[in-house]
Amino acid sequence: MYKVTLIPGDGVGPEVVDAARKCIEATGVKINWEKVDAGADIMDKYGTPLPDKVIDSIKKNRIALKGPVTTPVGTGFRSVNVALRQKLDLYACLRPCKWYPGVRSRYEGVDLVVVRENTEDVYSGIEFEVGKPETGELINFIYTSTNVKISDDSGISIKPISRRASERIIRFAFDYARKNNRKKVTGIHKANIMKYSDGIFVKVFHEVAREYPNIQSEDKIVDNMCMQLVQKPALYDVLVLPNLYGDIISDLCAGLVGGLGLAPGANIGEEIAVFEATHGSAPKYKGKNKVNPTAMILSGVLMLRHLGEEEKAERLENAVARIIAKGETVTYDLGGTATTSQMAKAIIKNLK
Ligand code: NAD
Repeated sequence: MYKVTLIPGDGVGPEVVDAARKCIEATGVKINWEKVDAGADIMDKYGTPLPDKVIDSIKKNRIALKGPVTTPVGTGFRSVNVALRQKLDLYACLRPCKWYPGVRSRYEGVDLVVVRENTEDVYSGIEFEVGKPETGELINFIYTSTNVKISDDSGISIKPISRRASERIIRFAFDYARKNNRKKVTGIHKANIMKYSDGIFVKVFHEVAREYPNIQSEDKIVDNMCMQLVQKPALYDVLVLPNLYGDIISDLCAGLVGGLGLAPGANIGEEIAVFEATHGSAPKYKGKNKVNPTAMILSGVLMLRHLGEEEKAERLENAVARIIAKGETVTYDLGGTATTSQMAKAIIKNLK
């Protein structure tokens, strides 16, 4: 019996998490779920979207299945998702983007894995608000030390990229490639412009790559990479990126394989792993039982693999693939009319 923290989240989170939990249980795996709440809906009750007991539960169980959580734009609380990744040091965000037969998409056969650094870059949360005294001090410091004058009406966000964090995420990507028989790792950056932050990332990428002579490696500048991915995705395999580029490129790759409804994810640290879809809380669909549960169910497949339950993971993934291929009981984004729960039920029925 495994003990797993279950975080339904908000928006469409509770609907897709419920669907995923039922599909996971239908494989026969024995899980004792510890349900804890996080997100916008519990702000009034707890005064925070991320109560301590959520962190405590994940630390204790070391594994969690999590629904999406809303982050208000530009104001309000900081992102629960970013806070979780930083507090638990879940440094690697793994986002496989695989095309399944039956999905209408520009390309068939795409099978990419995005490995995103999760703890630093502009997500470090170090920001200076326009007009604040400390922002003025920073602007003065930058002027005296570089002779560049930043406009006084600026807000400033800090982008730290460390050698240590770069090395462990790049090593994670190469280890993943080796374990999963992947052929190539591409390191993505903008070091031509950001020589001292992305510059470290690309330097460490080549150092680590030398330790894996059986895996091809190359670096690419992020803007070129976007163009390459939309034109020739089959040329790529495992992609490793700093936090911001990883966030953007994983949505791009999700788009290549049929959209956010199909893109699973995992946030992984040394000892703890939190499994969640790439998509957000899709507030306009909240409570409508309408969105695709596949991304969350495939996140459950990643969780089963992480637990060492390979056979059950395989059976669940195959059941998802069969339902998508048949195309009868699928949600609106795959051209069908099924509800979230109907699609999950059909997947459970197709478990062999
Ligand atoms: P979103 O991913 O929630 O939704 C964007 C659009 O993608 C939706 O309107 C819908 O058309 C489609 N979509 C998403 N999930 C789908 C699914 N399962 N099936 C079918 N279609 C789906 O992105 P957003 O609107 O930019 O963000 C909404 C909120 O979610 C924001 O507050 C954002 O910060 C948050 N968010 C949370 C996470 C997380 O919890 N890990 C991740 C991304 C965004």
